[in-house]
Amino acid sequence: MDLLTHALLTWKLVDGDPSVVLAGVGPDIPWYLTYPVWLLAKGQAVQALKTGEWPEPPAWIETLHHASHSFPVACGGALMAYILIGRWPRRHFEAWMLHIAVDIPTHSRRFWGPRFLWPIADVAVDGVPWAEITSRWVAAVWRNITIAFPGAQVSLRAKPYEQGR
Ligand SMILES: [Zn+2]
Repeated sequence: MDLLTHALLTWKLVDGDPSVVLAGVGPDIPWYLTYPVWLLAKGQAVQALKTGEWPEPPAWIETLHHASHSFPVACGGALMAYILIGRWPRRHFEAWMLHIAVDIPTHSRRFWGPRFLWPIADVAVDGVPWAEITSRWVAAVWRNITIAFPGAQVSLRAKPYEQGR
């Protein structure tokens, strides 16, 4: 699921407090903080945007993603918070768990299905990757529009008469 949907679900089903909503998008934060930076550092960001083919991340980013989408890790984090602040972070914990529960049926195993028992087990549900399906539909519609109306094409390359300026 996307960040906006996670934020809205958290706000409606758990709590609208900004820190709770942040916990509701929390499991995806490691991904958004690391993958784009890694992609830019490798010089592959523009190519990925143009082609829609995203390089496989290194194992450490994948492990970070699995850890942040793990029920046992979330329970461990809540226990650590309880020990440190002296109270159970119930709303934040619920928001984090809701995120994982929503991601389980909305990702396929191939497209980042949460390993929700990581590191105990590598189990993942082969759900419906609606975001990937939607992005393919949008790309197909855009491709058909650019075929039907060639003037609608957007080029990131300089036109021949602009080269050498
Ligand atoms: Zn997620």
